[in-house]
Amino acid sequence: MSVKILGKSKGFYDTYERRPGSNKEQTHYCPGCGHGILHKMITEALVDFDVAENMIFISPVGCSVFAYYYFNAGNIQAAHGRAPAVATGVKRAMPESIVVSYQGDGDLAAIGGNEILHAANRGESITVFFVNNAIYGMTGGQMAPTTLIGQKTTTTPYGRTLKNEGYPIKMAEIIASLESPVYVERVMLADVRSKNAARKAVRKGIKNQIEKKGFSFIEVLSTCPTGWKMSAPQAEEWIKTTLVENFPLGVYKDISDQVEPLDLSQNLAAPERVPKLIGLEQGKMEFDTTSMKIAAEIDQEIKIAGFGGQGVLSLGVWLSEIGMREDLEVSWIPSYGPEMRGGTANCHVKLSRASIGSPLVTYPTILVAMNRPSLEKFEDDVVEGGAIVWDSALIDNGPQRKDIQNIPVPATQIAKDLGNSKVSNVVLLGVLAGFSDFLDPLVVQQVLPIIFKKKHLLEINLVAFKKGLELGRELST
Ligand code: SF4
Repeated sequence: MSVKILGKSKGFYDTYERRPGSNKEQTHYCPGCGHGILHKMITEALVDFDVAENMIFISPVGCSVFAYYYFNAGNIQAAHGRAPAVATGVKRAMPESIVVSYQGDGDLAAIGGNEILHAANRGESITVFFVNNAIYGMTGGQMAPTTLIGQKTTTTPYGRTLKNEGYPIKMAEIIASLESPVYVERVMLADVRSKNAARKAVRKGIKNQIEKKGFSFIEVLSTCPTGWKMSAPQAEEWIKTTLVENFPLGVYKDISDQVEPLDLSQNLAAPERVPKLIGLEQGKMEFDTTSMKIAAEIDQEIKIAGFGGQGVLSLGVWLSEIGMREDLEVSWIPSYGPEMRGGTANCHVKLSRASIGSPLVTYPTILVAMNRPSLEKFEDDVVEGGAIVWDSALIDNGPQRKDIQNIPVPATQIAKDLGNSKVSNVVLLGVLAGFSDFLDPLVVQQVLPIIFKKKHLLEINLVAFKKGLELGRELST
């Protein structure tokens, strides 16, 4: 008796080593999400066509931002909405690669609306998968350009209205109206039959590229049970009964049999001409050391990281505010991960006596880690001799490195003992002031009343700061 075993496509990694944390077997997608199904269809097609090793997958910003954990292929993570531009560059430089631009509705139809139109209009020889789930999934369920009239989202709590937000954008129809695209189809992931049709469309889009036919665009109506607040079966049903009414399925354009293959490799410049073409004569590059001088004078480069809601970003803002009052140059930038699915939120703070070139903190002098994933993620980046301040009430295993200052602080416990776990970031601010010489406690105490205007909040935060200050001073001796 033969037993059919459904295994993972060879186009995926065996285990997802790039995924942070201990779970290296499962994807980060919510149960019932359509992304995993579409990933599977794409990679199976590539393996079947024997081009999996040639694929370069351009991930967008959105729930599929971490697709590079899974595809055993070339992966590039593009800026929000810019995947078609990146795909254009990659395909033109490497015409034999199979370039996939994979984008959600916020990414493709909102932020990247211009990018996709022009890539399609130029007829770039790429394959675009447009995942339309009528909502911004990653950032918590806001209205997308494809949200239906009447659909409730966090930014349209009473439902999208024609008067306020206009009609949902129908991307397949728009792309099909352009002359250059060779293949445009809309499919859905709702039941076995529709998934089989989607699988066929995926294969056709990739085959077109293998055959050098030009621009293919496949819009996929996909489930987002989390954003829609439904169970997985309800979400599939909603696609069939409602979403598809507004976004009719079908082939909107297919001229792939009528176009001649286009060999892009003929357009490639000879490698020896490239430096001249981009304005760099070989051997004449000079390194500008001005920025290195600035870097050497920077006093503190701080990264603060933790879960959303722990006051990570606020702590960074306060440090910048204090730095300004001390007449320093300051910068602060937040870095939002897809927190809904266990990523970290972090911010970068620079306090400097000299002008700041870039606000990015890649190698912090101080890391404030407010949860375990943050410590795991950034521990190795801290400069030798730098400090790691970590919340020992939430993190069981501290830093492993011996070449840094290890500063455990039970910040959350101290905050709870004071009656409000939210003040743990102020405890950490106090510790920073206590063990270092770059924050003057007097200045910090002048800034706290500006931040906390309500008397009861100011009182508890002043106590939290003083607790942290004492602890920081103890730790520094
Ligand atoms: S939020 Fe929606 S689109 Fe994002 S992973 Fe969850 S179900 Fe999928």
